[in-house]
Amino acid sequence: MRLILLGPPGAGKGTQAKRLMDAHGIPQLSTGDMLRAAVKAETEIGLKAKDIMARGDLVPDAVVVGIVEERVEQPDCKSGFILDGFPRTVAQAEALETMLNAHGMGLDAVIQLEVDEGALAARVEQRVAESGGAVRDDDNVEALKKRLAVYREQTAPLVDHYRSTGDLVVIDGMKSIDEVEADINEALSVRT
Ligand code: AMP
Repeated sequence: MRLILLGPPGAGKGTQAKRLMDAHGIPQLSTGDMLRAAVKAETEIGLKAKDIMARGDLVPDAVVVGIVEERVEQPDCKSGFILDGFPRTVAQAEALETMLNAHGMGLDAVIQLEVDEGALAARVEQRVAESGGAVRDDDNVEALKKRLAVYREQTAPLVDHYRSTGDLVVIDGMKSIDEVEADINEALSVRT
């Protein structure tokens, strides 16, 4: 099963991706996690991405597409994967389509977690409080504002894109974590 999780920062993509990973035995491919690992390891990509990420901007498409392409070719992705935080631009979505076509693969669903934007700042603050302080350079109100603006401008158009391809599944992300998980699994059982 090949899935995309789509939604603004704080919508619960990471949480649901982990649950889907456990339930379906397929890896979560989080470009944010991969980039944070690159920053920590001070690789060439990490050094380029560090400041861009800290201010809440997007890392260039070519960089992100490159790391995803490398990752989906790994053996553990053979029976599927959950893309969390990718694609984030129409250009990335097109590159993904080309990549999947080249491997004779398709998408099973694009799950959009729909959330009330007013609740997102509170969720990010909660994440910081629960982990005893900011664990991410972009876990602050300024960067969140920027990430939301970037989402609206560059990522939200993907909703229409995937509605037109027939892959879009809209899920109410304001429900509890368990309810959202149940709604996703119900929607997937109908489609796959
Ligand atoms: P995330 O953990 O998904 O919220 O991503 C954290 C940050 O990593 C984002 O604010 C971007 O700076 C960068 N990033 C993650 N995924 C992408 C992507 N698909 N395209 C561009 N930048 C990304």
